[in-house]
Amino acid sequence: MQTLPAEALERLAFATMSALGSADEEALIVARHLALANLSGHDSHGVGMLPDYVRLALDGLLVPNQSLDTLVDFGALLLFDAKRGVGQAMITAATKAGIGRAREQGCCVFGVRDAAHIGRVGHYAEDCAAAGMTGIFFVNVADHQPHQAPFGCSDARLGTNPFAVAVPGSDGPAAVLDMATSAIAFGKARVARNKGVPVPPDTVIDEGGRPTTDPTALVDERRGALKAFGQHKGSGLAVFCELLGAALTGGQTVQPEHPRKGGILNSVLGIVIDSARFGERDAIGREFEAVKDWIRASAPAPGIDKVRIPGEPELENRAARSRTGVPLDPKSLDDILAAATTAGVGAVLLDELRAAYRA
Ligand code: NAD
Repeated sequence: MQTLPAEALERLAFATMSALGSADEEALIVARHLALANLSGHDSHGVGMLPDYVRLALDGLLVPNQSLDTLVDFGALLLFDAKRGVGQAMITAATKAGIGRAREQGCCVFGVRDAAHIGRVGHYAEDCAAAGMTGIFFVNVADHQPHQAPFGCSDARLGTNPFAVAVPGSDGPAAVLDMATSAIAFGKARVARNKGVPVPPDTVIDEGGRPTTDPTALVDERRGALKAFGQHKGSGLAVFCELLGAALTGGQTVQPEHPRKGGILNSVLGIVIDSARFGERDAIGREFEAVKDWIRASAPAPGIDKVRIPGEPELENRAARSRTGVPLDPKSLDDILAAATTAGVGAVLLDELRAAYRA
């Protein structure tokens, strides 16, 4: 498949967010976030989100240059209202505040209500780990028709409610788990739809609740649903992302008393722990590595090339895609360039990208 270098994607995202009105700092946070998501292999949460961001901004459902309102401040407990602000900027700021408080107090629990789409949640867990902290994030998704059928349901009742956790290593995170609680992220169904390939078995149901591997009706007409991962257990985690991420923090939940405006709202419960307050940082780090080594020492199961620790596939992708560029199918590129044009990005940059894509 044809590729584009991550730097080109970053420039395009920066230009699109700037055209939507984001100040340089905000546009840069979003651009770096989306390009890193693509580099990490999560094309569902990379520049492919830009058409949504353009639509949301034009509809007033994503608001550039918003700042967090502090609603509660008890030292180790913070609550913010993001008021539909650009999600990456809002959660970057909230995470920074949480890390600062955890440094003072040993830990910090923070809530953020109603950020516009926050992207790859692992990004913020990695920010915590880079600061020597453990970061745990429960997130809901609201303001549009839900996509995920919880265990036992025949239709969608929840968003894809992501969960992420990272622990610090000596050089970046020692491990990062970052996932949708649906069997696949909705964006992965979109990517499969755009490529014209089926989704994996047991991930999607049709509008009658029957299994299907064709994502077209779900992506194009929102008919059917993604299944929760891991039967009742994964489904239970999805329910708690809703309860903790939004119901507890006062963010918009998915239940129908809240009018759905067609936006993408994420509300977040973040927990930041200064790991070194529990014991000597190096000793904890050695134990993390010993546990990872023990797991990796298992012979790979049949059909598996290598035993990996959560977070390693993303590192492998970053290394590979930094060399080869980010694969992008033609429909996704057309959609992104059309959205950039709608936002007001000039033709020169778009022509440059088309030329780089062909090359
Ligand atoms: P995924 O299934 O690709 O990966 C989930 C986790 O499993 C990752 O931590 C990964 O490192 C780990 N993993 C993958 N393969 C592995 C292997 N072979 N061995 C060991 N560990 C492995 O991720 P996903 O569920 O498709 O989620 C994609 C992205 O979508 C995430 O970044 C998530 O935060 C994001 N998301 C965001 C929203 C939102 O509303 N903002 C909603 C849903 C998902």
